[in-house]
Formats: sequence, structure tokens, C-alpha cells
Amino acid sequence: MARKPDIFDEIILYLKENQNADFSLSDETRKELFSTPSPKPAVTPQNIPVSAPAAPAPAPVSSAIPAAPAAAPVPAAIPQSAPPPAAVRPFADVAHMDWDTLKQTAMQCAGCELCKTRNSVVFGEGPRDARLMFIGEGPGADEDAQGRPFVGRAGELLTRMITAMGFNRATEVYIANIVKCRPPGNRNPLPEEANLCKQYLLRQIELVNPKAIVLLGAVPLFYLYNLKGVTKLRGQWLDWNGIPVMPTLHPAFLLRDPRQKAPVWQDLQQVMKIFGKTPPPPRKA
Ligand code: SF4
Repeated sequence: MARKPDIFDEIILYLKENQNADFSLSDETRKELFSTPSPKPAVTPQNIPVSAPAAPAPAPVSSAIPAAPAAAPVPAAIPQSAPPPAAVRPFADVAHMDWDTLKQTAMQCAGCELCKTRNSVVFGEGPRDARLMFIGEGPGADEDAQGRPFVGRAGELLTRMITAMGFNRATEVYIANIVKCRPPGNRNPLPEEANLCKQYLLRQIELVNPKAIVLLGAVPLFYLYNLKGVTKLRGQWLDWNGIPVMPTLHPAFLLRDPRQKAPVWQDLQQVMKIFGKTPPPPRKA
């Protein structure tokens, strides 16, 4: 059954139909949006964008970001009671690895029990100097099969969210997860798995050094900030060593509850402002 167009389709269509307007799009995004034929219009220009609410007036980044909650101290968070089952203990040096060593180490990692059931280590993807980073929870079945993050239905939605923001997923955004191997049955990662594996992620954040980070769902919020309640905390800036961090809802959750797409679009518009990107105008009454 064909998917119903959502707010992100509407925004993308609006961008395509208003290519002469200044939306601060990168060359890559313009190429992606305007070099391919427009899809069959799902909505009319008169009602685009339908549900994008007016974003609040931009606040200077420095004042919009509350005092940083203490970033979880990584070594202390590693449960000492759960030593890696394999003889190789890569984590002592992870914090100082260069990109290639980090990736090579992760791809061979047997640090936790998830190594026994995975098909792939999903290291993350995107340019190593991406300005925007998305952090999710962990690979699902599709990601485990393909070895790439966010390639299933939730990934397709994330890609449209990124495009609606005026970014090109392949060339401008880095995507990673708290854990790099699939938890069986798509369960949440266990604390010993997440706290161990996230050391790779913390080094990835350091190496990418993005201008902003978007957290997708409850799991990264908990394992990076020890905070619970993403539905209450979404849309409120956090700080990670000077990098503004926007928690929002996971695309898989949006698939289950599409009404949440509009508030998530508000969160993403706040992120766009960090990059000087102008969100498309709200629907005229
Ligand atoms: S989930 Fe992370 S720590 Fe566990 S085996 Fe995979 S890469 Fe290693």
C-alpha cells in the first residue's frame, strides 16, 4: 500500500517547487533536490507546508543552550562486572584512536555478547568532517543485514527528515548509534552493552566534531546524559562539550505515531537555525 505523504514530503516538495527561494541549501542538497524529476505531487502548492508550525524566533546559540549536564564519564560508566568475553580488550585505547584504527577495531570487536548474534558491525556512515551528526539506538534487522545505519523504514523516514532540513544525507551528515551490533529481537541494548560500545561513539563524536548533534529517541539520551523522558525533553537544547545537542523522537516511533512528526519538525527547525538555514514558511491561514 502506498505511503501517505507526511510533513517531510510536503517540505521536500515545497523546496523542489521553490528552488529559486533562498533556503540556504548546500550545493549537494540543491543537486539532490533539483536534478531529479519531482515526484507525483501529493499535495497542492496551496496547502504546503501543511502542518509546519511557525518556529520561535531564533535565539543566539549561546543563550539557547542551557548549562551542560555533566557528560557521562565514560570509563566510570563501564560496568566492571561485565568484562569483554573475548581475549581482545580494545577499549583501553579507543579514546585516542585515529579514524582508521577506530573503525578497524570496531569491525573486529568482540567486546560484548552482541558480537555472537550480529551479522554486521554497523560502524556508522557519513563524511568524517560532517557538520551535523545523528545518533540513534542500534542496528535493526535491515541495518544488521546491510551493515549500514538507518536503512529500513525508519531509515527512509530519517533520510526524508534530513532532506527536509536542507541537508544531503550522503555528503553532509554523519549517522551512528549507541551500539554497533544488533540487539537480538530489537530489544534495547543492555547497560553493559551500551556503556561499553558507546566508547566508539564518543570517539566518533570527537573526531567528527560536528556543529550540532541530533539524538534520536530515548536510548542515546539515557546513555549520553543519564536522562529519561525523551517525550518531555525533546526540543530542549543540551550540550556535549560545547556542541549543541537536540534530543528528539526516534523515526521508528514516528512510524508508530505519525502525529509526532509535527513536533519533531519543530525540533529539527531549531537545529537548522544553528546552520543559518531558513525553514520554509509556515502555512498561511
Ligand atoms: S555492540 Fe559494540 S561493544 Fe558489543 S561487540 Fe558490537 S561493537 Fe563490540
